Amino acid sequence: MCRKFFVGGNWKCNGTIEEVKKIVTTLNEAEVPSEDVVEVVVSPPFVFLPFVKSLLRSDFQVAAQNSWVRKGGAFTGEISAEMLVNLGVPWVILGHSERRALLNETNEFVGDKVAYALSQGLKVIACVGETLEQRESGSTVAVVAAQTKAIADKVSNWAHIVLAYEPVWAIGTGKVATPAQAQEVHFELRKWLHDNAGAEVAASTRIIYGGSVNGANCKELAAQPDVDGFLVGGASLKPEFIDIIKSAT
Ligand code: PEP
Repeated sequence: MCRKFFVGGNWKCNGTIEEVKKIVTTLNEAEVPSEDVVEVVVSPPFVFLPFVKSLLRSDFQVAAQNSWVRKGGAFTGEISAEMLVNLGVPWVILGHSERRALLNETNEFVGDKVAYALSQGLKVIACVGETLEQRESGSTVAVVAAQTKAIADKVSNWAHIVLAYEPVWAIGTGKVATPAQAQEVHFELRKWLHDNAGAEVAASTRIIYGGSVNGANCKELAAQPDVDGFLVGGASLKPEFIDIIKSAT
């Protein structure tokens, strides 16, 4: 089963209008493999989404960095899935470790968010990953399996989900997982999907890696059989994001 390489850029809470214009110009001028080979999705902060969408080349897509767990209404400060759909935003990142850790998003809450976003027609980049403490205590696979199960409990169709394995100790630290470490967890996640969601889901779901990916380390990671792309934070704000997109080939 062919899984198209996927490269997401998570801009997090960064950027001014001038910086955003500069990043988009760099992306628009880049020569990258065609959209048949690599799917590129960038995720600016909410306030820049319509602006970026209007300027961005048509072969790249945009994602929101979050969406509310159910229908919009009296939830001050939240953005609903319906609003994103209304704006023509096709993707949303959910379950990022920064939100799990800083905003106390539980596995169950993330599962509910994924299910609601899918029900409204969004495609989801769903993040899972262990802390350093969890890795050192040998519970990496159990942690990511529990996070994935909380999604699987609420969702039966995985066609519009990309699963992002992002070890917390690798995010924004410059401490990237080795290709072997990434491959080991991606293999276990695919096995988990096989055993719990079926062979077809396991074969077709893209499992991407995130955590200090850059222009220098992406090639070796991309060569791993179960690494189907990347979710990139810091380096997605820099021209080296283009090299990461090119690691698809
Ligand atoms: C992220 O925030 O999803 C991420 C992977 O960040 P960084 O690439 O900066 O580690």
